[in-house]
Amino acid sequence: MGRPCSFHALLLGAALAEKGCAMKVLRAINGLDGLAEAGLVPRADVARLAPVETAFRIRVTGAMQQAMAAPDDPVARQFVPDVAELTIRDEELADPIGDDAYAPVKGLTHRYPDRVILHVTKTCEVYCRFCFRREAVGEEGALSDEAILAALDYIAVNPAIREVILTGGDPLVLSARRIKGLMDRLCAIPHVDMVRIHTRIPVVAPEKVSAELVSALRGRVVVWVVVHTNHAQEMTEAAEAALARLVDAGIPLLSQSVLLRGVNDSVPALEALFRRLMGCRVKPYYLHHCDLAKGTSHFRTTIAEGQALMAGLRGRVSGTLLPSYVIDIPGGFGKVPLVRDHAEPLGDGAWRITDWRGGVHLYQDPER
Ligand code: SF4
Repeated sequence: MGRPCSFHALLLGAALAEKGCAMKVLRAINGLDGLAEAGLVPRADVARLAPVETAFRIRVTGAMQQAMAAPDDPVARQFVPDVAELTIRDEELADPIGDDAYAPVKGLTHRYPDRVILHVTKTCEVYCRFCFRREAVGEEGALSDEAILAALDYIAVNPAIREVILTGGDPLVLSARRIKGLMDRLCAIPHVDMVRIHTRIPVVAPEKVSAELVSALRGRVVVWVVVHTNHAQEMTEAAEAALARLVDAGIPLLSQSVLLRGVNDSVPALEALFRRLMGCRVKPYYLHHCDLAKGTSHFRTTIAEGQALMAGLRGRVSGTLLPSYVIDIPGGFGKVPLVRDHAEPLGDGAWRITDWRGGVHLYQDPER
């Protein structure tokens, strides 16, 4: 008998839970054949999807297989390849946020004076179909020790750098031992006082948030973990427990999500996600406009649609639940909020202020 398809596994998991048994974590699927065997791609579509597999890596963790409830649901759409990925539009870019344009040494992006991004690995636990680094991830694996040392030397001789952002790929695919070694070296650089870790692991592979990993994240510098998640359906009980292990260890959590057509482009979907995150003690931080990565136009909303969703949320949820809706300006010019302006200057200190219902109010600055 072949492996059970994910929907059978889901039923099996529910049955085990009913009997008080722990749900077994499924093995990750790499590639189209595995997806077909698990029933996530019709066998008849494998040949049609083969060029997608050639262009972009495929991997779906056990946790995400178990989180899928139907082949075209908001979780499946993020990980199961689609022929739409073969449509490359003129405006789409291999490096949409311009990481390479600001790379003084291999693996390091230095775009702003006070912070750097250290791409410690190109590997991920899952490969998201909309990924903005999809042309870079999955190929080389971890940054070599020599490259890490060169990046640390660069940070050490640039005292303006206060914050190091670990990203990838997904930095938490590295072993707890390697993370600890890196953290120890960062803690030894006196002007570095914050490390931010951008990861999808607590949600897509929560079993990897081990006591050893949590302990590796603690040291002299302040560590913030920014968790990437896009839909409440991904936030399983196992993910909630993994997030709790981090928060209970004193590590503050933020989230980043990508606005994705067909996944979370509705007020109820975003509200459910942000409420679930707050329930897990994660502050929603960024909602990214989907970047101009190649083969991702089917996921992209318009900016006006994104702004309308944020306006719809503003009247329904408290400010603590609301992230900033942001865009990385294509070409590497940085991230800016895509706010709808609520304040229009009328001159002589007078302002027209528009509230969340569209009501207009006049406001006058004090005279100076
Ligand atoms: S985990 Fe992050 S870096 Fe990796 S494929 Fe998904 S979005 Fe891209």
